Amino acid sequence: MIRLRPLSVTLRLLAPGLVLLASGAFAQSDRAAGAPADLVLRNGAIYTVDAARSWAEAVAVRDGRIVYVGSNAGLGTLVGASTRVHDLRGRMVVPGMQDAHIHPISGGIEALGCDLNPGKTAAEYVAIVKQCAVTSPQEPWILGGGWLMSAFGPGAMPSRALLDAVVPDRPVMLWSTDGHTGWANSKALAMAGISRDTPDPPDGRIDRDPQSGEPIGSLQEGAADLVTKVAPPASSEKRMAGLRYTVQQLNAYGITGLQDASVSQADMETYAALDHAAGLTVHAVLAQWWERAQGLEQITAMEQRRDQFTRGHVRATSVKIMQDGVMENYTAALLEPYLVAGSPRGIPMVEPEMLKRAVTALDAKGFQVHFHAIGDAAIRQCLDAVQAARAGNGPRGLRHHISHLQLIDPADIPRFRELGVVANFQPLWAYADDYITELTLPFLGKERTERMYPIGSVHASGAVIAFGSDWSVSSANPFEQMEVAVRRADPALPDGAVFAPEQRLPLPEAIAAFTINAAYVNGLERDTGSIEVGKRADLAVLDQNLFAIDPRAISDTKVLLTLFEGRPVYGELGKL
Ligand SMILES: [Zn+2]
Repeated sequence: MIRLRPLSVTLRLLAPGLVLLASGAFAQSDRAAGAPADLVLRNGAIYTVDAARSWAEAVAVRDGRIVYVGSNAGLGTLVGASTRVHDLRGRMVVPGMQDAHIHPISGGIEALGCDLNPGKTAAEYVAIVKQCAVTSPQEPWILGGGWLMSAFGPGAMPSRALLDAVVPDRPVMLWSTDGHTGWANSKALAMAGISRDTPDPPDGRIDRDPQSGEPIGSLQEGAADLVTKVAPPASSEKRMAGLRYTVQQLNAYGITGLQDASVSQADMETYAALDHAAGLTVHAVLAQWWERAQGLEQITAMEQRRDQFTRGHVRATSVKIMQDGVMENYTAALLEPYLVAGSPRGIPMVEPEMLKRAVTALDAKGFQVHFHAIGDAAIRQCLDAVQAARAGNGPRGLRHHISHLQLIDPADIPRFRELGVVANFQPLWAYADDYITELTLPFLGKERTERMYPIGSVHASGAVIAFGSDWSVSSANPFEQMEVAVRRADPALPDGAVFAPEQRLPLPEAIAAFTINAAYVNGLERDTGSIEVGKRADLAVLDQNLFAIDPRAISDTKVLLTLFEGRPVYGELGKL
């Protein structure tokens, strides 16, 4: 009430026409200052990520929203008898982070299924599969994933014989960590009817023994679907368990928002059910899967699903179009050929003119398009499609975005800003690991390899950069990703080689890409993504100040407490 007194003085001095406006604006801050807050965090290094990138000492929360950001001294009447006050003792606070490209349900199911991620070699993978068979005798199939192509050596593919040796009697199907290759045993191939006589599907490849022509057990892209479609679908209980697992992991990383990069109807039902059970402690934007075998007629069903599932913490407002594959199996679409026999250029998934029509129609219906594009040809086709939509529909404020962006033709870099397309990078991939030095360099050549993941150039062009992990393809830990964005080096090796140092991103931009920019691509930037009065109280308390440490230690950062809408969803207030 104290604040009202000078206000009323001010009001008398204003022209009558301004009184309404002014009283509206001040009434809001009066509500903020007048009643006590539910929760106050003070004595912090609060990095707000507001437009000025300002710092604050204290933040106050009431009814799940931020009602004050400023100095300790300014808290005033916000601290009442019932207010929980916590001393941050100088700890850094950031806005709750958002992962702009992630696969929570399949990743969670994989982590809870036969999880090969702990293995590093083919022998270790086989040992894990053997153990999975022992511990799940009741499961008709052994399903899981998390293997790395690099574990099998340059040019080598995993074979069914390795799996047959440990599981001859039950079908086994295991996804590579990037989700683009399946590894099946003989039983699974037989159940899918895959033999030497089976032709490759149009969108994939059955890897074969060069002498006998027999399938060897590794299945690229659409070829893997021949097996998964005969495997039993995950039950709704398994989906729920998978999503719940992932959301808890994300909360532990300080993440309170995400964009699921590909959802089915069953996935949307899972999000709705978990939200109904009050377990969805993230804001979830869902990208509905574009069926390449269908045309524009599928948009009507997408609109119905958007209406049905956009409620609570769920927004089914995006559509995922996968425009190519990946470099490692030569399915990413390139302008110039791969340096291998036959000089392939990859597989564009949607015919470019059809892509323009699809994106224009989706844009007209208010959908955001979330593209998967890795190769320079696919990226250009996606940008051309957005250009066609902008020409046909005018600016509609939709944040179309392209994920992955491994190889961008230099001529296309300015087009992100010009077309308002958000560059959705997975920064963890932007250092010279085995994938780059052993698998990519030989078939892409030095010049193209050195231009990969041009995060710095796209940022310098003025485009909006957002980050996502693509988990379970790679770690969902945002601090590992930030460190690579800042250093362009392996976060596990303090003195590892720096890959394309001119593409490094300043730390404030790396934080923005996980907070306000990710919120922007999710259409949630008015409500989340920064620590500002009126926004939801989504924030994370960190164990170290990212600006005060050696950049090589960024990936070691731990989250102590995550608040989602003012509620602790990871850590405990009393233990700060
Ligand atoms: Zn993905």
